[in-house]
This record gives sequence, C-alpha cells and structure tokens, in this order.
Amino acid sequence: MSVAVYPGSFDPVTLGHLDIIERSAKIMDKVIVGVLKNNSKTPLFSVEERVNILADVTKDIGNVTIKAFDGLSVDFARNCGAQFMVRGLRAITDFDYELQMSQTNRILRSDIDTIFLSTSLEYAYLSSSSVKEIASFGGDISMCVPDFLGKQIYDKYGIERNEPEAME
Ligand code: ADP
Repeated sequence: MSVAVYPGSFDPVTLGHLDIIERSAKIMDKVIVGVLKNNSKTPLFSVEERVNILADVTKDIGNVTIKAFDGLSVDFARNCGAQFMVRGLRAITDFDYELQMSQTNRILRSDIDTIFLSTSLEYAYLSSSSVKEIASFGGDISMCVPDFLGKQIYDKYGIERNEPEAME
C-alpha cells in the first residue's frame, strides 16, 4: 500500500494546499496531512484549529487523514509507515529550498522519497503568508481559501467584512 505524508504549516490552509492534497490522494492509497506544531513564529491558528479546519475541508476525500506532529518530517513519515513525502512546487524559489530539503531528508532516511507536485496554474501565486497579509488589511481572500474559512481568518484580525454579494 502506498502511503504518503504531506507535511506543512497550513496556517491557514489555502486552495493551493487543497489542490495538492486532492491530487496526491488520487496517486496514493493513503495520504496523511501533517500539521507542524513547533513553529518558531506565533501561528495565526493553533495546531488544534488547523487540524480541525483541514479535517473539515478534506472530509469528502476517503483516503486522507490529518495529524499534528512536531520534530522532523522524516520521523513523522516513518511513524506513519509512509514511503513518500509530498511537497508542492510553485516557483523556482520553492524548488531551490525543496530540493535541498529532500536531499537532506534522503540522507536522514534513505527509505523515504519526496514526490513533488507542481502547482495548478491558478494557485501558483498563493501562499499562506499572502493570504494573511491580504486578510489583515480587510482585502478579499475568497479566491484563496475554502469558503467557510474566510470569516474565521478575518475574525482572527478582528475584521468584520461583508461578503461581496452582501455589499451589492
Ligand atoms: P511550510 O511552512 O513547510 O512551507 P506550507 O504549509 O506553507 O508549509 O506549505 C506546505 C507545502 O505546500 C509546501 O511544499 C509548499 O511548497 C506547498 N504549497 C504551499 N502553497 C502552495 C500552492 N499555492 N500550490 C502548491 N503547493 C503549495
């Protein structure tokens, strides 16, 4: 059985992440999304919130589960019995960092391979940090995150924002 972990911060999960989750779930028998606990910076959403949000957005994909983890992602992969680690690539800047990470991970654990999925073009510009920046200024993030999540993100910034339809 092919098992992959997809580790990340997901603070917050974007449509770009979701696209990678959906596509990897079609390739693998089982995908475990790993939500990183020990961020050096203070996250917008707690790890419990991020796990719950991801569980909600992936509830219709039968072979995807969500788990929090800390420490090395290769150790998380090993503990999950995974042979693969999935990562998404948006641009050459991701490639540089991700290639180095995957090579380091292979030195740490040669039995785990990294699988790169290139982003779908419509999400190539998307990152969790840009979503947070736009939301913090009350901008429209409806094209960036799953529908129900927008309000939760604005709430974190204490911003009340009517949906565009409601403002017409
Ligand atoms: P990290 O903090 O490790 O960068 P992220 O949650 O930001 O974690 O991202 C997790 C993974 O998802 C990384 O492999 C990243 O390149 C990928 N990713 C992030 N945004 C996108 C996107 N818009 N399209 C495709 N992959 C993405």
